[in-house]
Amino acid sequence: MAVDERVSVLMVSMSLQGHINPMFKFAKHLLSKGVQVTIATTEDGRDRMLKNTKSSNLTDNTNLNNSGNDSGIKLVFFSDGLSLDFDRSDTESMVNSIREKGPKNLSTLITNLTKVHNYSCAIVNPFVPWAINVVVEHGIPCALLWIQACASYSIYYRYLKNIDPFPNLDDLDEKVHLPGLPPFEVKDSPSFILPSTPYHFRHVIRELFEAVDKVNWVLGTSCYEIEEEIVNSMASLTPIYPVGPLVSPFLLGEKERSDVSVDMWSAEDFCIEWLDTMPSSSVIYVSFGSLLVLSQKQVDNIAAALKNSNKAFLWVIKPSDGESHDAVELPVEFLEETKERGLVVKWCPQEKVLMHPSVACFITHCGWNSTLETVVTGVPVIAWPFWTDQPTNAMLMEKVFHNGVRVKCGEDDIVSTEEIERCIKDVTEGPRAGEIKKRAMEMKLSSHKTLQEGGTSNKNINHFIIDLIARYPARA
Ligand code: UDP
Repeated sequence: MAVDERVSVLMVSMSLQGHINPMFKFAKHLLSKGVQVTIATTEDGRDRMLKNTKSSNLTDNTNLNNSGNDSGIKLVFFSDGLSLDFDRSDTESMVNSIREKGPKNLSTLITNLTKVHNYSCAIVNPFVPWAINVVVEHGIPCALLWIQACASYSIYYRYLKNIDPFPNLDDLDEKVHLPGLPPFEVKDSPSFILPSTPYHFRHVIRELFEAVDKVNWVLGTSCYEIEEEIVNSMASLTPIYPVGPLVSPFLLGEKERSDVSVDMWSAEDFCIEWLDTMPSSSVIYVSFGSLLVLSQKQVDNIAAALKNSNKAFLWVIKPSDGESHDAVELPVEFLEETKERGLVVKWCPQEKVLMHPSVACFITHCGWNSTLETVVTGVPVIAWPFWTDQPTNAMLMEKVFHNGVRVKCGEDDIVSTEEIERCIKDVTEGPRAGEIKKRAMEMKLSSHKTLQEGGTSNKNINHFIIDLIARYPARA
């Protein structure tokens, strides 16, 4: 699709790994269709992003005298109101500061940017909901890039807009019945609607759904093929247009391995060479994403289960960035006893790991990016959700995708060694293992064509661009 070369969009997101990466992935699709992209994100990620982002034509364009590279993504930064060395694992201070200082700082940045540039649209990440008002006040049309499952969007929307009846959310075992979704328990709702979630998180999502009516387009990082009934169920209420799966193109079988993605930490790439030495479908990959820090007890149970399983494993234990959590330690004898078949790293190139034929299954916290990555690679999962949208994603994997098993937590919220062992067995060699792998491969196939010419996500991206130009011709 040929696009008037002046069409230009501004994206806004915090610089958290799981928030900024899907923005980059979508930027890459827009770039490939001739749209220019500027990404505005928070200053605390500047150094890590410029150092670790895999793109040859990425430029820091905050200094507007730097003209950047017109064919690439321009990066600009605004302050969240905290000093760069502030410990952002104190989420309450971080969320409150960005809500208070973010609007003015972003607004000043937009004022400066629009002196030299016209934006046809701003694409806002849901976790900076105040940015919707800022861009609308600047007269810029606004789109939302929903970076979680369409299922989470539907649940939030229906609850916060009082569309459907919900049971008492204090009772986590009550059943919720919503269009397009199988019946699920209250505890599988996105946790930001639950009364037990701290106020500052619940408030972010309330603020978003108060502002969402000002948004002209809601796009999703999922794809129609994996959430068909959910997307259909939203169509007459408030449509969400999936434009994903927003993962690196090589995961979808594209030859081009070049990528635009951000790594906030340096990946220990040697783990791919280590995987090369392992037999096909033999390695358990374990990772809980970029934010979660597990308790010592939980780490001990995983170590014991991996040891007892006698299987090869690759385990990512990302050290905590802040002071809110004690550092965890692996038992010395565990490392010694498993050194021939186990590798523990601080950060890995996850997409390449999931693509690797040696990987048998993924013990995952069910972050939405990890969920999409496991779907498009056909890797069976052991779903181990903690908070935010993770329980909803685990419910999707269990009840809609059928591409894995889910751990059961004990009364103390701890998953026992025996339970982890059970899940490993079920997904790799139990009577259901073959069926789960078959289903995972079906999911992979159905998610692969949607971004190609004629595919649903590709059509949705084209319609978005066409609509943008048609509705706002003066800016294009
Ligand atoms: N990731 C990675 N290396 C790791 C662990 C995670 O590259 O060792 C990436 C992963 O591929 C995914 C992102 O970090 O794209 C994590 O996002 P997700 O939504 O799954 O979880 P979050 O970190 O936001 O909880």
